[in-house]
Amino acid sequence: MAGRPFLQIPGPTNVPDRILRAMDRAVIDHRGPEFAALTHAILPRLRQVFGTREGATILYPTSGTGAWEAALVNVLRPGERVLAFNHGHFSALFAQTARNLGYVVDEVPLRWGQALPPEEVEARLRADVGDRQYSAVLVVHNETSTGVTSDVGAIRAALDRAGHGALLIVDTVSSLASLPFHFDDWRVDVALTGSQKGLMLPPGIGIVCAGPRALALAETGGAPRNFFDWRPIIRDNGAGFFPYTPATLLLFGLREALTMLVDEEGLAAVYARHHFLAEGVRAAVAAWGLTNLCEDPTAHSDTLTAIVMPEGIDSDVVIRTARERFGLSLGVGLGRIKGRVLRIGHLGALNELEVLATLGGVEMALVECGVALTLGSGVAAAQQRFVRAEGQMSKVAGHGAALVHTS
Ligand code: PLP
Repeated sequence: MAGRPFLQIPGPTNVPDRILRAMDRAVIDHRGPEFAALTHAILPRLRQVFGTREGATILYPTSGTGAWEAALVNVLRPGERVLAFNHGHFSALFAQTARNLGYVVDEVPLRWGQALPPEEVEARLRADVGDRQYSAVLVVHNETSTGVTSDVGAIRAALDRAGHGALLIVDTVSSLASLPFHFDDWRVDVALTGSQKGLMLPPGIGIVCAGPRALALAETGGAPRNFFDWRPIIRDNGAGFFPYTPATLLLFGLREALTMLVDEEGLAAVYARHHFLAEGVRAAVAAWGLTNLCEDPTAHSDTLTAIVMPEGIDSDVVIRTARERFGLSLGVGLGRIKGRVLRIGHLGALNELEVLATLGGVEMALVECGVALTLGSGVAAAQQRFVRAEGQMSKVAGHGAALVHTS
């Protein structure tokens, strides 16, 4: 197909040319001074992205799934109890990961499309009065299968109100570097993410951020572990090195991504851009007369939108049509909502025109698959949203374009 393919799944996201070029270089000695300087350039700015001064950020050559494991085995002994919630594919998998690692998981079923209710967290913790209390609460900040963002600050407040000492462990795989995250202010104990979404890199790096309580626990507790043990990594990072062979070229990409996000665009502008573009997508969904799977407008994710298909329409067919006809990749419905939703990813390096092209492709694919909607209605609704807000947002939007296309 001529022209560039459109990768609008909710991660991996498009890698800006600048980042590709930063990685397109000779591999260097990972025990030499140039490498140490690279590590020292990355770690402080990564802490800024998590919103922490006291926490440590730990890098692994892995994906988000590996980061889940790293987040658990450093602080929890097998047999310890954890509280988890099932309101989407990834929250369910996080709970399953904990079970597979030998933890005793109480998994609370919720509706897929629902945010994690802080009052539910509070009630569960208040009722937890036995002598083997929960050691941790597992939270997915942004549920990538449903397009729902949970309020981590409110969940922290719920833990506090319940007076419960469980660790707060938060998955930020599809939120970090796209949605505001305040590790210190929310007193998160462990957060985790992957390189392939808001950080605009290819897959391949898993990142964990550990706060003071978690760091102290890891010194004497945790599970038997080797590769994911963060202690030797933190120790060697002090001198700029790693106890394993790091993903050298991805780290050059990460340094460039952090320059773009933290130093150039600025995190506040990055978050504003994601919200602005997401509003355009949501306006299109409403104009099509379709339903956002996320039940509560205050919990709508600014990084992806999961759209419920009308009766009789299989989202897998729409997604195949979009790919084959227009070179547009969209996210499938995962797990129990397979075939029922399609997901538009709107995170990472992205601007208004790319969103409009994506919406145009979705619209055509839906119509070709028999959905009754007016061609152009969604695109026009997003344009209205973008034009009306143009006055206040021109700076952010202009920067968005630069982010993707300049060298
Ligand atoms: N957590 C969330 C919220 C995710 O969206 C994903 C993947 O999309 C994962 C965890 C698993 O990460 P990975 O696929 O990088 O192993």
